[in-house]
Amino acid sequence: MATVPWLVDVLRSAGVQVVVEGDWLNRMRPGSFDPIGVLWHHTASTSSATNPHPALNICINGRSDLAGPLCQALVDYHGVFHVISAGRCNHAGVSRGSGPIPAGDGNTLMIGWEIDYNGVDQEMTAAQYDASIAATAAVLTRLGRDAGHARGHRETSTTGKIDPSFIDLNVMRADVAAKMAGGTAWSSIVDNSTTGRFTASANWGVSSYSGQRYGADYRYADPVAASDPAWYRFNVPAAGNYRVDAWWPANAGYNSATPYIVATSTGNRTVTVDQRATGGQWRTLGTFALPAGDANRVAVSRWSSASGLVIADAVRLTRV
Ligand SMILES: [Zn+2]
Repeated sequence: MATVPWLVDVLRSAGVQVVVEGDWLNRMRPGSFDPIGVLWHHTASTSSATNPHPALNICINGRSDLAGPLCQALVDYHGVFHVISAGRCNHAGVSRGSGPIPAGDGNTLMIGWEIDYNGVDQEMTAAQYDASIAATAAVLTRLGRDAGHARGHRETSTTGKIDPSFIDLNVMRADVAAKMAGGTAWSSIVDNSTTGRFTASANWGVSSYSGQRYGADYRYADPVAASDPAWYRFNVPAAGNYRVDAWWPANAGYNSATPYIVATSTGNRTVTVDQRATGGQWRTLGTFALPAGDANRVAVSRWSSASGLVIADAVRLTRV
């Protein structure tokens, strides 16, 4: 395979928004290209709603020390895929080998997404994450490879790359696998704004302060030695094992020991997380046996002995 001229069609068929950037079919580096995997990166540029793709030009044209194109597609702040190249790009360098990806020429072995966020004090947006999962699943399906062939640059780099920051790559692969299963893996997200599925008392304020939020806003409350949880209601389709993931915006002023309660088939289980860190992404609380039915299933409790605001943003269940 010398090129992937199907890339735009495959992305669009997966529901990914695509912008074609000029002569993408003929813009590429010389040399071999026979991809078996997808590699995630971050650009180290600070994006925003009004400046959604600050690194696009450099990804197309390269920089003084590295000739472009620098990736097959750039993923902007809104989750739009800007397709740059159907061929070999300078994104991966040498692969040291990771999972099923062997050691060798990473630019031959992998298709690269440059996700446009700075990775130091900015996480990827939910839109970027969701689009990258859909795109990766679609491309790996087209390549005939499983979700293990999705990797992060920090896993394959021989030069100490840290990208993509703030993402648990095992959760990423689990999300890609679920997407590739074509809907057989039931999954559901309840955000604090989901109608009829989130309940919290008036003691929980509403904030849109953090850019790491899921959706438009999130809820916050002071810790207190009393029961005043925020509940997430799910319609669980069948008794079985479900992975429970939570998403919170992180901030130094948030709570270091926030209890999440999962109402399992055998009673409540509590998992404590540090909401000062690892925000703006799905974090796995664990896998739990849940009964079937529509009920309050996960809660964020205010009953924390630590100081700092307790945050209730989004929760996701995925059948495993
Ligand atoms: Zn990279």
